[in-house]
Amino acid sequence: MRMILVGPPGAGKGTQASRLVETYKIPHISSGDMLRAAVKEGTKLGIEADTFMKAGKLVPDDVVIGMILERVAKPDCAKGFMLDGFPRTRPQAQALDAAMAKAGVSLDAVVLIEVPDQLLEERACGRRTDPETGVIYHLKYNPPPADVVARLVHRKDDTTEAVTTRVQKYHSETAPIVPFYMEKGILRRVDGVGDPDEITKRITAALAS
Ligand code: AMP
Repeated sequence: MRMILVGPPGAGKGTQASRLVETYKIPHISSGDMLRAAVKEGTKLGIEADTFMKAGKLVPDDVVIGMILERVAKPDCAKGFMLDGFPRTRPQAQALDAAMAKAGVSLDAVVLIEVPDQLLEERACGRRTDPETGVIYHLKYNPPPADVVARLVHRKDDTTEAVTTRVQKYHSETAPIVPFYMEKGILRRVDGVGDPDEITKRITAALAS
């Protein structure tokens, strides 16, 4: 299974991706996680990406495209992968398409998780991640157990200001990739409002249809 999860910031892509990769036994490739790791390590790529990320802006296409195409060419992706957060622009979608065509493979599905804008800020700003387990909590909707609270991480771009910019960027830069995949007949729209277990079921059903 070669698939992509698309959705606005706070749609639940990370939460759903980590559940789905267990089912499909494929690597979870999150461009955001890769960039955050590069920032933490202080690599050249990380230093370049940091300013854009803090402001909620997109990292330039050439930087992200190179990073992801290199990753999907690795042997563990030979039988499939789940991309989370990439592509986020039309040039990224086209670059992925061209690289996959060259490798003689194609995408099976693109899942679009739809959540109204007015829910996104609260979802993103209340999010906390456990750096040890990778589990994503929400202070109100999925409260963390007391013994992990002290180590939870609040992302620098999960602030009202950065989330507002990220939602705007989603509409101006990322939404245009939807028709690209619709034309290919591989787009699956899923309602992302509700209980995370219920949403996992919706995605699994959409993928089976
Ligand atoms: P995410 O964890 O997917 O919400 O991504 C966090 C941030 O990383 C985004 O707001 C961007 O600054 C950057 N980023 C992640 N993926 C991409 C991408 N495909 N293209 C450009 N910037 C990205």
